Amino acid sequence: MDKQDIFGQVENMEEELGIAFANFTTFKKTVVKLMEENQRLSIENQQLRKLLKREADPALPAQGDKENPMIGEGYDNLARLYYEGFHICNVYYGHLRTEGDCMFCISFLNK
Ligand SMILES: [Zn+2]
Repeated sequence: MDKQDIFGQVENMEEELGIAFANFTTFKKTVVKLMEENQRLSIENQQLRKLLKREADPALPAQGDKENPMIGEGYDNLARLYYEGFHICNVYYGHLRTEGDCMFCISFLNK
């Protein structure tokens, strides 16, 4: 193997490492995204379980339509949902509020 071959191999290796590094960076970003999504879903799941438990508690007065709690849900329920960390605005309804107060929700509550 002459010097030209060795240098050619080193260059090939450099290129391959560059591609591998780019792939690794993309993979790392995907992992971060999935971890964030997992965290968000865990919190949302926890909140929903809490809500479900409360809805099923016979000691609390029944509210709205039992078949479908969303029908006839009043302002109080929406306000409660908001303060439990969920969006009630029509922009992000039902999603967890991950960044504090939401302008859309606030303006909806103040109507
Ligand atoms: Zn909102």
